[in-house]
Amino acid sequence: MAAHIIAAVCFDPDSTNYAELTDAVCAVRIASRATRRLQAVLGGAFLTKDDRSPVTVADYAAQALVSRVLPPEDAIVGEETSPDLLTPEGREVMARVADVVESELPGVAVNEVGDAIDRCSSTGGASGRFWVLDPIDGTKGFLRGDQYAIALGLMEDGEVVGGVLGCPNLPSAAGRGCLFAAVHGRGAWELPLDEDGPAPRRIGVSSVAEPREAVFCESAVSMHSDRGGHAGIAERLGVTAAPVRMDSQCKYGAIARGDASIYLRLPSSATYREKIWDHAAGFIVVTEAGGAVTDAFGRELDFSLGRTLETNRGVVATNGLLHRKVLAAAAAVLPEAPAA
Ligand code: AMP
Ligand code: MG
Repeated sequence: MAAHIIAAVCFDPDSTNYAELTDAVCAVRIASRATRRLQAVLGGAFLTKDDRSPVTVADYAAQALVSRVLPPEDAIVGEETSPDLLTPEGREVMARVADVVESELPGVAVNEVGDAIDRCSSTGGASGRFWVLDPIDGTKGFLRGDQYAIALGLMEDGEVVGGVLGCPNLPSAAGRGCLFAAVHGRGAWELPLDEDGPAPRRIGVSSVAEPREAVFCESAVSMHSDRGGHAGIAERLGVTAAPVRMDSQCKYGAIARGDASIYLRLPSSATYREKIWDHAAGFIVVTEAGGAVTDAFGRELDFSLGRTLETNRGVVATNGLLHRKVLAAAAAVLPEAPAA
């Protein structure tokens, strides 16, 4: 399959242990293609989950598609579960999800689609190998017609060792849409969303060393981070450019290829815990592109504690050169670090 050939060019799987990322690239491509089509026709239709966040046909379809393409014996920690689909409204959604899956992977029965979604119920942890999936990261952006990402990370014994980010609306050499992929110790790459697109290219973070010249990004959703704190950091650093507001892990892609140099995600509440699927793929793409990612207090992100980054608060990602200065400015605007 062409996806495997492109991935092989990037990752030289014959000489690494991570040939399975070729499956990940293939899975994220298929889910990106299906969700791009859905974004054009969904018109803002969504269900509301117990935590009041929105979920769409596209979230479930993307999770089912990625789950079906990854090897069946692999464990997956995925954001969505299908019990939300057992209501009358949910059953209607399920029928549409099954149609989308059928259009990409003909022959998959409806009950197999439910199984594919539910298979992603691993709890994560510090041992073994498992995937971490956010089928539509930035659902609010997706519904607005803006940025979103299909985010798939690979964990081994508590560490993120690989990741693929599908960013169907991000500007790229093809015009719109690209994938980012990274393998621990082997660098980060930008690939075309469509298999016949521009050649893959190795990417790296910006060389901006002067904070004043930095472009910084933050979530487009005000309640997902502390914008007042971000403005305080920007002021201390002498950053003059207005923040680039963007949904999803596309922000990590922007840092990894040098479009921006700082991504701020200061905690908006004392109780919220970041989810591993919101950061695993972005983390490896940025670190393999030469950048740095910590929590807002400068602590390493610990992906080994289950479905959340339990001991971390907020996230700061930079091109590496600016990291120390950004954390120093953050320390001045943040309360004292909570106990881990
Ligand atoms: P973004 O598009 O950067 O705002 O990130 C989207 C992700 O934010 C979603 O996938 C949610 O899991 C996550 N999220 C939801 N509530 C919060 C919150 N209060 N603080 C931080 N992240 C949140
Ligand atoms: Mg998310």
